[in-house]
Amino acid sequence: MSDSLHLSLVELPRQLGSTLTRELTWVVPEDCGTSSMRVEPGTELPIDVTLTSVDDGVLVQLSTDIELLGECVRCLDPVRREHAIDTAEVFFEPEAAARFAAEAGEDEEADDLLVIDRRNSIDIEPLLRDSIITLVDERPLCSEDCEGLCQDCGERWADLPEDHAHEVIDPRLAGLAALLDSGLLRDGDSSDQTEGEAR
Ligand SMILES: [Zn+2]
Ligand SMILES: [Zn+2]
Repeated sequence: MSDSLHLSLVELPRQLGSTLTRELTWVVPEDCGTSSMRVEPGTELPIDVTLTSVDDGVLVQLSTDIELLGECVRCLDPVRREHAIDTAEVFFEPEAAARFAAEAGEDEEADDLLVIDRRNSIDIEPLLRDSIITLVDERPLCSEDCEGLCQDCGERWADLPEDHAHEVIDPRLAGLAALLDSGLLRDGDSSDQTEGEAR
């Protein structure tokens, strides 16, 4: 078990096509995901990694299964989504990265190249984190037809009876209702009718 995703490259032969396979268990830290969905911190994530020597660096293949947790944006119920991650990326040796950067000129893409030092280790955590973030649903729903919450009482519509409603009193009429209650308008022309409406 480990809280880092560094793999030593020393054991990976430079000969093209050489591979090195590792099974890691990563303890997921606090901030894995986004504010909408994340992997539960403390989860022990089994990760399969294969490193392959390629022309200009090392191909990293990574696979794992994750569960993303979030809240339904309409009713706030918990939402859980399972995903399989299967990703691959080439980490370049510094000389190759420099060559690409020179060829690309002003192109920004060259800045994004992942660079490694073959005498050292490789950190695959950014690769895994990026894969997780692309799976996040920024507006998770517990179900496609979630009706959300009643605006007035905050209960879930799914839990409320069909005829659920709140009596809405127009604030401009509230003063009138109070007058009617106090009986001050009782002698008015339309008192019977008005009183009937106001109960
Ligand atoms: Zn919902
Ligand atoms: Zn309500």
